[in-house]
Amino acid sequence: MTLHYDLIAIGGGSGGLSAAERAAKYGAKCAVIEASKLGGTCVNLGCVPKKVMWYGGTIAHTLRDAPDYGFDLQVNGFNWSELKAKRDTYVGNINSWYHTYLSDSNIDEIQGFARFVDRNTLEVEGKRYTADHIVIAPGSHAIIPSVEGAELGVTSDGFFDFEEQPRRVAIVGSGYIAVEIAGVLNAMGSDVTMFLRREHLLRKFDAMLRETLMEGMLNDGVNIISSAQLERVVKSDDGTLEIQCANQQVHSGFDKLIWAIGRAPSSVGLDLEMAGVEVDEGGFIKVDEFQNTNVPGVYAMGDVTDAPQLTPVAIAAARRLSDRLFGGMKGRKLDYDLVPTVVFSHPPIGTVGLTEGEARETHGEAVKIYQTRFTPMYNAFTKHESKVAMKLVCVGAQEKVVGCHMIGLGCDEMLQGFAVAIRMGATKRDFDDTIAIHPTASEELVTMR
Ligand SMILES: Cc1cc2nc3c(=O)[nH]c(=O)nc-3n(C[C@H](O)[C@H](O)[C@H](O)COP(=O)(O)OP(=O)(O)OC[C@H]3O[C@@H](n4cnc5c(N)ncnc54)[C@H](O)[C@@H]3O)c2cc1C
Repeated sequence: MTLHYDLIAIGGGSGGLSAAERAAKYGAKCAVIEASKLGGTCVNLGCVPKKVMWYGGTIAHTLRDAPDYGFDLQVNGFNWSELKAKRDTYVGNINSWYHTYLSDSNIDEIQGFARFVDRNTLEVEGKRYTADHIVIAPGSHAIIPSVEGAELGVTSDGFFDFEEQPRRVAIVGSGYIAVEIAGVLNAMGSDVTMFLRREHLLRKFDAMLRETLMEGMLNDGVNIISSAQLERVVKSDDGTLEIQCANQQVHSGFDKLIWAIGRAPSSVGLDLEMAGVEVDEGGFIKVDEFQNTNVPGVYAMGDVTDAPQLTPVAIAAARRLSDRLFGGMKGRKLDYDLVPTVVFSHPPIGTVGLTEGEARETHGEAVKIYQTRFTPMYNAFTKHESKVAMKLVCVGAQEKVVGCHMIGLGCDEMLQGFAVAIRMGATKRDFDDTIAIHPTASEELVTMR
């Protein structure tokens, strides 16, 4: 095997694979170093298995509503381990595909944990590899809090290992991973309690989304405990977990506890100091707008940098970097503005651009908000209620749309096209001039008054 490369990527996840793949297309000799499984978090412990579970939860909701549409159904149960086995096979097939794809693309796969020896040299399992360009893309990992008994809980990684459906689950956290797992488990019939450190879910999202999601989850039967100060987790005599909070609050009887309090960059252990690569106080690798670290020839992207922790962001940054390094596209870089994102909660959220709060802070009086809230036709005669809420954040005399936020059935698939329009600088008038598609929920976005 060649020991010198044009480009080596540390991490065979979204960022590392994409950097090597694009560089190899330009004829560069590349290698990917992966300590665990190819595909990284997204394929193995993130987007992919999560979305499978989300579909499962969505089917559970459809079954719940089916009698309201005249179906006389008898559901005889739900086999968690069967779904998990199928999901694992699906993920396993994607892993295998990556192995073949790398060899077909003439990219070397190096299995093991990479450490820097110097700015051009990496060591993996005692062997050294050099490269003109080194891309650092080791991703991030879930944070476990330092409370007594924390080891009794698992992270989202552990959630994907559950062989059986938990009966009563505690989920600590308020971010998108917390609400997604809570939504899935609740839809599938587990008794779910969320513990939030503050008052709100999805703290950084538009207030309308936060409030509508909270209302929807409460209506679906999720227990939400706000302002919870966890002090200790203990195992009771019957084997269940007890969560002890400040002010003598005790919550007991959980068979599983999931920590979903955030993710930290996986920058430790790489011996970055050997190459002189700088990190910030949060451990994120410092990069400029071109993904350059402070060391020439060393780059970073994805979750290990302080960028939105999303697969398409890591992929896009990586591809643009390789376009610049090997494709002759000088100045090519990722524009981090207007990154659209979906939260696969129940109901799902789609969001892009400035929240109302952010827009008002930047543009003050020039902000105009259009919003709507309605019961979608699907729920017009189901016993179970759910709402759709949408908001357009517009700025200036032209009413340029700088933010679009939506929650409700179908919003996950609705956002992508609107994100294109907003990226192109669409105004409210452009939205109004677009003929509505009827009958849909999305038509509300082009008919708001
Ligand atoms: C539960 C969950 C759900 C998610 N859902 C979504 C979603 O729906 N949509 C979305 O866009 N994003 C989602 N994400 C986020 C997404 O997975 C990440 O943003 C994305 O994977 C980041 O890509 P990356 O290349 O930075 O890191 P990763 O994809 O994590 O890849 C890093 C790889 O590097 C390897 N590695 C680490 N250190 C070393 C080393 N020293 N040597 C060799 N290899 C190393 C790791 O084993 C890993 O395989 C989710 C994440 C989680 C946890």
